[in-house]
Amino acid sequence: MDVVQQRFAEWVYKLGITLTERQAEQFETYFRLLVEWNEKMNLTGITEREPVYEKHFYDSLTIAEAVDFNKTSSIADIGSGAGFPSLPLKIAFPHLKVTIVDALAKRIRFLDEVIAALGLDNVTALHGRAEEVARDAIHRDHYDVVTARAVARLSVLNEFCLPFTKSGGVFIAMKGTDVEEELRDSGYSAHVLKGEAREVLKLKLPLEQSERHLVIIDKKGSTPKAYPRKAGTPLKSPLVDPAASQ
Ligand code: SAM
Repeated sequence: MDVVQQRFAEWVYKLGITLTERQAEQFETYFRLLVEWNEKMNLTGITEREPVYEKHFYDSLTIAEAVDFNKTSSIADIGSGAGFPSLPLKIAFPHLKVTIVDALAKRIRFLDEVIAALGLDNVTALHGRAEEVARDAIHRDHYDVVTARAVARLSVLNEFCLPFTKSGGVFIAMKGTDVEEELRDSGYSAHVLKGEAREVLKLKLPLEQSERHLVIIDKKGSTPKAYPRKAGTPLKSPLVDPAASQ
């Protein structure tokens, strides 16, 4: 391991993760593929090595502060893009069964390449809109943990993600610096979709020191039949309290 990998190992150790040599190699291969494919398609604005380790790999693994992955069997990552946060989580917790949903086919092609190159089993990358995939009985109300990073506002994300979350499971929305207003706006959609905000964890990236938030939402029942609405509707008309707009 070189200096960057050692520093990364120290950061994640504080999250309770001890990386093996093989896992460190998997992260390095992932980094190489990300930068290589990024020349052909838009995957990330971050391409320098240590920032990728910090802002993509470490940031993804911070979810371990909110969830005990040793007691988790399945996760769904909605709008995963280049694989964040689910692929770093899969590398760190190889027992996880991971389902990725993304609306862009070329990103799914990249993910399939990473999954094969890293030799990851039990990872399925699905091309589709969250609103449509969540209508499939195999995925609906099914996952222990559902994640989303940088996909939409929380009021929209609740409709994308809570339908995948099983009753008793948890949806973790990864957010940047400002979360207050989004949280306020999202109460109604959470309520309609049987979610209940439990806690917001505030974190800092180890080098850059910028703030991150993990919004932890418990799923308290089955998704009502009417949700999610037609693809595109959640983004166009987010679920907000009708009383608040009068
Ligand atoms: N989660 C990744 C990250 O943090 O780097 C990617 C974020 S990228 C800005 C947002 C991703 O969400 C895109 O890859 C886009 O295709 C996907 N996306 C947006 N709306 C979606 C939807 N309704 N269903 C599935 N994927 C969606």
